[in-house]
Amino acid sequence: MSGSLESPIQFLKGVGPRRAVLFERLGVRTVEDLLHHYPRLWQDRYETENLRLPTATGLVVLRGRVLRASGQHAGPRLAIYKATLATAHGKVECVWFKHVSRRFDVFSALKKEVCEGADLWVVGHADPDLTGIREVRVDEHYPLTDERWRMHVARLAPVYALTEGLTQRFVRELTHAAVEAHADAAVDAVPSELMAKRHLLAAPQALRGLHFPKSEAELEAARARLAYEELLLLELAWILKRRQTRGIEKGYSYEIKRTLLTPFRTGLGFELTSAQKRVINEIFDDMRKPYPMTRLLQGDVGSGKTVVALSALLLAVENGGQGVLMAPTEILADQHRLTLDRFLKGLPVKVASLTSRVPKKERDKILEKIASGEIDIVVGTHAVLEEDVRFKNLRVAVIDEQHRFGVRQRTTLRQKGAMIDLLVMTATPIPRTLALALYGDLEVSTIDELPPGRTPIKTVLGPESDAFDAVRTEIASGRQAYVVYPIIEESARLDLQSAKAEYERLRTEVFPRLRVALIHGAMAAKVKNKVMEEFSRGDWDVLVATPVIEVGIDVPNSTVMIIQNADRFGLASLHQLRGRIGRGAAESTCFLVADPKTPQARTRLDTMAATGDGFRIGEEDLKLRGPGELLGTAQSGELSLQVADLFKDAELLAFARVDADEVLGADPKLLAPAHAMLKRRLIALYQSRWHWIDLA
Ligand code: ADP
Ligand code: MG
Repeated sequence: MSGSLESPIQFLKGVGPRRAVLFERLGVRTVEDLLHHYPRLWQDRYETENLRLPTATGLVVLRGRVLRASGQHAGPRLAIYKATLATAHGKVECVWFKHVSRRFDVFSALKKEVCEGADLWVVGHADPDLTGIREVRVDEHYPLTDERWRMHVARLAPVYALTEGLTQRFVRELTHAAVEAHADAAVDAVPSELMAKRHLLAAPQALRGLHFPKSEAELEAARARLAYEELLLLELAWILKRRQTRGIEKGYSYEIKRTLLTPFRTGLGFELTSAQKRVINEIFDDMRKPYPMTRLLQGDVGSGKTVVALSALLLAVENGGQGVLMAPTEILADQHRLTLDRFLKGLPVKVASLTSRVPKKERDKILEKIASGEIDIVVGTHAVLEEDVRFKNLRVAVIDEQHRFGVRQRTTLRQKGAMIDLLVMTATPIPRTLALALYGDLEVSTIDELPPGRTPIKTVLGPESDAFDAVRTEIASGRQAYVVYPIIEESARLDLQSAKAEYERLRTEVFPRLRVALIHGAMAAKVKNKVMEEFSRGDWDVLVATPVIEVGIDVPNSTVMIIQNADRFGLASLHQLRGRIGRGAAESTCFLVADPKTPQARTRLDTMAATGDGFRIGEEDLKLRGPGELLGTAQSGELSLQVADLFKDAELLAFARVDADEVLGADPKLLAPAHAMLKRRLIALYQSRWHWIDLA
């Protein structure tokens, strides 16, 4: 039976070699691939009954008899065919738009099917205007004499991803035929004990239910079944990958000598929080294992991740190794450099900065010292990834704000040192189960506590004038302020305030007696640094900025922030920005000035006002945007998920984790006959995608 599943779709009726090539572009080669080419969405194509009230989407589905019909040419390239359809709910004008062709009569097919007296289904769109549905632009029509209409209308109709040259109608009909003929041959990849334990539909039913559901409930049961299977495969893949990583011998070991760590700690000037101590221990334990570390450090804005990262770097240096700290922006890299210089003062540790702005001559010198081992710690941007940056003995790599980097960059960094320990950090925490699904080969450490003495930030949604008053009051008592704008320059298309124009207004009209400075991403690094240094020293009262200050800026004397056009920022950005204040003991206030135009924008602002907790904000962000966006295309392409939604299917994900553990616990190499299908799918989905799977 499985022979038919593996046969090329070229031999299905109506496909042929030309269309087979098109299907290949969709990743569909065999009948089995076609069955697993799941719908993108399902359209509610039940008959539209109230013609006075168009559906929300404008989609209209009609059934009726043609009263009259005729075609006419409406221009050199455009032809229009019109028919009046008498339905049980009233008369409707239907319009077909056609490209004129010299080679054949554009109306020939229509004249045959849409002629006086013909009974039809029509699927199309109508303008939702006050007078109701009068005219419908037809996308598809189906004569009632042709039974095939049943797979297209009066039902939930599947909508598939297409490629040029394939029509929705063709793919739907082909899939229907394939499901009818071959779904019964589909073998369950999920072992039968798990099928029973989780009350899952059998594969044939699930495939039928997903492609051509008879009801919403059937669709959901089918979707859940297939989602579970995807998640189970994902979790198995992660366990195997982790097992593989742990099989690698890194070939060196660390000793906690404390020659650097102790003076570093005593020189900090503050006591580490217990959360910081805990995660430092987790990291050290990990680094001392025989296989390389891959650890994610999550901690809210201001929770003190840098000190933790520095501890890891110093352990490597104590043991004669080198470390690298990579940040997504120049400002952040520079800020890290300042922090390192401050905390490492007096210690025999050599630090170098590497960004794309370092002049060539200087860069060459630095590269030499990195290669000779003279430099202990390199701080930089993407520039550290360049090929000619070669380390003598790289042991630890830290990536800050890791969500801003793609997987490829993580891998490149990893390849700089044979068996380096990798620590990636993020201030946009995500729920643990999700983190594990996304980065299953990472261990997760979480700093869940802020350093003492921080006062929670007050967040206010309000008019600009209130915000300006607050700025004046704070500055009068010696504080400083940020005013943030989403863009640098005025643009004709966007009705947004720009930092440059607003800087002029704030400086001359709003705060004429205050010292106002400007900083934005297009400035030269030197200028940016100068402005930042001056602001840190207190030379400026107000800093007008673009989101360049989102990360890295650390000026505890700043107690007010105004975010203009706040509706234009994502939640994570807002939270990061807001984290620039509230860094001292004094109470800080963040004003969000906005005119939100969408419900999502309003929800974002309300969330910001309601909570300062990065974890809650992270969750809300996920709900609003979905994990796909959070992952970025690079990362989501790493996971083979078609129907599963890591957020919505959190419960299934949890089941899949437990079950995957159980399966591999009992059968580590998936040798049991009951696991043969699982193994086959696992290899098909993940072997090439992850350049691995050692299941021999
Ligand atoms: P983030 O986690 O956002 O990267 P940072 O590492 O920049 O946070 O730390 C924020 C600020 O808190 C810095 O000024 C840092 O020196 C300070 N800090 C870190 N840990 C502590 C602590 N245990 N006690 C007091 N201040 C701390
Ligand atoms: Mg940081």
